[in-house]
Amino acid sequence: MTLSTLTHLECGKCGATYDAHQLMNLCPACGKPLLARYDLAKAAQTLTPAALKTRPANLWRYEEVLPVQRDDARLMLGEGWTPLVCAGTLGNEIGCPNTLIKDESLNPTGSFKARGLAMAVSRALELGAKEIAIPSAGNAAGAMSAYAAAAGLKAHVFMPADVPMMFRVECAQLGATVTLVDGLITDCGVKVREGAQQHGWFDVSTLKEPYRIEGKKTMGYELAEQLGWTLPDVIIYPTGGGTGLVGMWKAFDEMEQMGLIGSKRPRMVTVQSAGCAPMVRAFEEETEFAEPWQGAKTVADGLRVPAAVGDFLILQALRQSGGIAITVTDEEMIHYAKVMGRHTGIFPAPEGSATLAAQIHLLEKGWIQPDETVVLFNTGSGLKYAHLWA
Ligand SMILES: *Cc1c(COP(=O)(O)O)cnc(C)c1O
Repeated sequence: MTLSTLTHLECGKCGATYDAHQLMNLCPACGKPLLARYDLAKAAQTLTPAALKTRPANLWRYEEVLPVQRDDARLMLGEGWTPLVCAGTLGNEIGCPNTLIKDESLNPTGSFKARGLAMAVSRALELGAKEIAIPSAGNAAGAMSAYAAAAGLKAHVFMPADVPMMFRVECAQLGATVTLVDGLITDCGVKVREGAQQHGWFDVSTLKEPYRIEGKKTMGYELAEQLGWTLPDVIIYPTGGGTGLVGMWKAFDEMEQMGLIGSKRPRMVTVQSAGCAPMVRAFEEETEFAEPWQGAKTVADGLRVPAAVGDFLILQALRQSGGIAITVTDEEMIHYAKVMGRHTGIFPAPEGSATLAAQIHLLEKGWIQPDETVVLFNTGSGLKYAHLWA
């Protein structure tokens, strides 16, 4: 058995609680995302900075605050504990020397989607799922296919027909059944729901099951641990479904409750593409939820999410943190990918370079001060996007 202190699931909206030891998707009462809750007082007894020093260099090191109960249900391909790179040369170039890059491209399947899907698929395996399904415009599908293969579960992937070749090929090579759908990720989601009803597939869509966010929140734990149990002034995060942002925000609260950090929080920044920016619009209009974005179009496949189930959680985290939401153009993403590459040695996905473009805009506006510590999330590798760089 792991040291997991999972106690129950709680709806992020209506607060209804549920037994955690059953397969669940959205809250049956209100249709919003369920969040995992832990006995943090108990977790704090063993999850200490000293204990962590001897633990493996992957995300399972935070086992007290992860949901998986059985050691043998943990699917391990090397996910997590990615480097926090001091990007001093880049920082000097742009006038913000304390710029750091959390390089998530080193995860299995080349993106941080591995964190969420390692957790979701491990937990689905533990709770008896036989076949799993996902709608994805890119990296999530590859990560899901990898962990399904590791688990010996059948995987069904639904992708928009215009998805770049590498994303599709990766899933097929990893043994998933890939169906191309004429339309957007939301149309793919409809297909997954049909399959779930007809064939009993378990749907591992973003925030439609409670555990991808638990995998993604480990980015928050790692950031704090790698910074000696402090947090940066600003975190810039390319936001699609928002699991990473909401997950880190949850992690900071858990860490504070366990006495690992204090009450200081980073200002959280959401970056979206000008071609699909539902969160930026909702942030600016000060609404609780985000209206779906019509005609979503961007080369950053991870940001082509016209409607996010966790919209209210993203907006809450941005507002509580004193953060902001901004757009950058696809042209900027392509341009700044090369700037990041040239000055750091990291070859980012366009979602990753979007954070650099955003940082530059926010420095110009005076929203970020030159002496502040800024963490950019390079959420994926540029390698799968060969079509963009040539
Ligand atoms: C999925 C994805 C994102 C968006 O992540 P969310 O946590 O869903 O907001 C950003 N970048 C890349 C490379 C992605 O694959």
